[in-house]
Amino acid sequence: MADAMTETPLPGDLSGRILAGDRRALARGITLVESTRADHRVQALALLDDLAGAGRQALRIGLSGTPGVGKSTFIESFGMMLCARGLKVAVLAVDPSSARTGGSILGDKTRMERLSRHKNAFIRPSPSQTHLGGVARRTREALALCEAAGFDVVLIETVGVGQSETVVADLSDVFLLLMAPAGGDELQGVKRGIMEAADLIVVNKADGDLKPAAMRTCADYAGALRLLRARPQDAPGFPLAMTASALQEDGLVQVWDRICALVDWRRAQGHWAAHRAAQQRRWFLDELRHALLTRLETPVAREILSTMGRRVEAGAISPAAAAAAVLATLENGPAPEPPIALDAPAESA
Ligand code: GDP
Repeated sequence: MADAMTETPLPGDLSGRILAGDRRALARGITLVESTRADHRVQALALLDDLAGAGRQALRIGLSGTPGVGKSTFIESFGMMLCARGLKVAVLAVDPSSARTGGSILGDKTRMERLSRHKNAFIRPSPSQTHLGGVARRTREALALCEAAGFDVVLIETVGVGQSETVVADLSDVFLLLMAPAGGDELQGVKRGIMEAADLIVVNKADGDLKPAAMRTCADYAGALRLLRARPQDAPGFPLAMTASALQEDGLVQVWDRICALVDWRRAQGHWAAHRAAQQRRWFLDELRHALLTRLETPVAREILSTMGRRVEAGAISPAAAAAAVLATLENGPAPEPPIALDAPAESA
């Protein structure tokens, strides 16, 4: 990849190739947006800017579930079903484990082999990043690239732990929670927040001996969903619980039909456009916040922070005044002493 800064053209007409649906170019573009190098960042922004003009939108389906519930099996079967209908399907992953440990829950095994070989599919393993905010940002940008590349459906997968499903729910148009048949009558300790984010709960493994348990579990979730407060974006009958078998490819068409019905309703009611607009606005604010925080990480800023920190500790300046002084310094260069000094005769003299 090229090394120079702003003037460097994007490597090999990357945007044109992505717009033409070239999967290798897409993979390369995603590598570019995932890079933390400053020069790559400049190129990544130029690329995103180039592609935004295309105005293409995919249906973004977020999918969460605990390890072993059948996410990769489901995505493979569901993805193959969509590809067979002539749709182009991309799969992205938000993996909180890589953020914490550098390892990966989602990426370690060979997953979705059939789907990864399909000409209509594109699968991107999760990026390893240092914090979830970083993962969210990269995923959002990878999503934009997939949309520009003309994918009809983007499945965004995450493991049902921590905050990652909030991130994924934020990124998606439709959020699907995959559950396993429960042994007893407990609701598998699903956190309320995750239930509240779900548009569909799919109880997977509704096959063979597990089928009766899956039906019971589904009824339990249907009951639990009815107790939740209705959201404006809920079409009549949603959120919804249903059963499926990813392994036997059973019930997947029904899941897709329900998703389409929900999306059609949301489009007709104006929720789709409002949601996209709110997302854009939130992403803009996230970017701004990120950019502002980055400004505190330059060597000069660190020096000022450490000096001010010591003065705050010593009671020489109030925390609020110190913060204001730091901001003023970062904006305008070194500023005069802030007016409010607590107990610092030497400095206020
Ligand atoms: P993930 O960790 O959520 O991605 O789960 P996997 O897709 O790797 O599946 C975990 C295990 O559950 C595997 O042994 C799958 O074969 C099995 N599994 C997945 N879907 C089904 C299903 O629909 N029915 C049954 N009986 N087993 C399934």
